[in-house]
Amino acid sequence: MTTNKGPVQRGWNFLQTPGPTNIPYRVLNAMNRPAVEFLGPDFVDFATTLLADLKALFKTEGEVVLYAANGHGAWEAALSNVLKPGDKVLIPETGRFALSWGYMAGRLGIETEVIENDWRVAIDPAQVEARLAEDGAHEIKAVLLVHTDTGTGITSDVAGVAKAIAAAGHPALLMVDTIASLLTTDYRMDEWGAAVTVGAGQKGLMLPPGLGFCAVNEKAMRVCRDNPNPRNYWDWRERVDPDEFYLAFCGTAPEHLMFGLREAIDMIREEGEDAIFARHHRLSRAVHAAVDHWAGAGALENNAVNPDERSTSVTTILVDDAYDPMDIRIACRDRFNTGLGNGMGKIIKTSFRIGHMGDLNEPMILGALGAVEAGLKVAGVPYTPGGVEAAIASLTEN
Ligand SMILES: *Cc1c(COP(=O)(O)O)cnc(C)c1O
Repeated sequence: MTTNKGPVQRGWNFLQTPGPTNIPYRVLNAMNRPAVEFLGPDFVDFATTLLADLKALFKTEGEVVLYAANGHGAWEAALSNVLKPGDKVLIPETGRFALSWGYMAGRLGIETEVIENDWRVAIDPAQVEARLAEDGAHEIKAVLLVHTDTGTGITSDVAGVAKAIAAAGHPALLMVDTIASLLTTDYRMDEWGAAVTVGAGQKGLMLPPGLGFCAVNEKAMRVCRDNPNPRNYWDWRERVDPDEFYLAFCGTAPEHLMFGLREAIDMIREEGEDAIFARHHRLSRAVHAAVDHWAGAGALENNAVNPDERSTSVTTILVDDAYDPMDIRIACRDRFNTGLGNGMGKIIKTSFRIGHMGDLNEPMILGALGAVEAGLKVAGVPYTPGGVEAAIASLTEN
């Protein structure tokens, strides 16, 4: 395949991976400054305010703990603080990320039970209720739920699962992974009844990779305080209640990522969360319109069969077995300066993904869709021409 990569390159590269996402210049510039004394009063004040401001993003009155870690780190933090070897968790299968979080739990000695799903639809809260209702001995300690599974491009109903747990009269904690949904779609930790929420910086929050978050309600914090499971770096107890500020980060604070986070939160406040959610909805529907149009030729299909369940963050596109999705990604990368997401899990060889979260606007989406349409042509994958036109129609109607 020919490539335009060489010593001279002009213009922007489009990053349409579902993490990391585009980092706004305002965030990059906020990080472009010298290091400071991290135990000095200015930084301690700054960090204290920042941690308090994070609560509003999760919509919780609980505590938010910030780690110098990616999302997998925050996953492990959540598991190791509220669970211990021998405990059992219930995992509604949303896709690859639900199984990976479960795999991690297994490696920590936690017993896992999966409610199976075909990855084409959101999970059914009624199945969670039915399973918990059978668990009269309360062996299940937590339900691990991925809000938006980034492998499938499907968003599940967190409030519905919280209601299902309550309807079953079961004490299991609801632990939610919002890594791909935070700041792209509505999430209300306290109102919906999640006990723990896991997040990360490099998706809807528009930060460089390297920050992970756990938001923790009172009930989960009580469980954490009594949990004998050995842990140190992840332990919420010292981080939320430090005798010395040093312990709030278990060592040196990730200062520059925190400067970036400050700027990102300021940008989020300026735009307003409702406007951010509406923008993600609008842009994602334009992508879906393009994919549905291309699909007319029979070789492509949106993985999410129910339009209402399609994520505002990422779109997973299934490709007929006769074609290799990698050829589409290579064409987009090498010919059209556009990075797309790989397939994941059991659809690794039969899908690719378009990320559309974070610092994005209409012309960026139209540019990316133009690149994908061109990539389909170069890769020889049949598509109905006019996907970009369908996206324009969606953008101008909505
Ligand atoms: C990206 C992602 C993760 C993993 O985050 P890393 O920062 O790559 O460790 C976990 N869950 C979901 C839903 C994700 O989108």
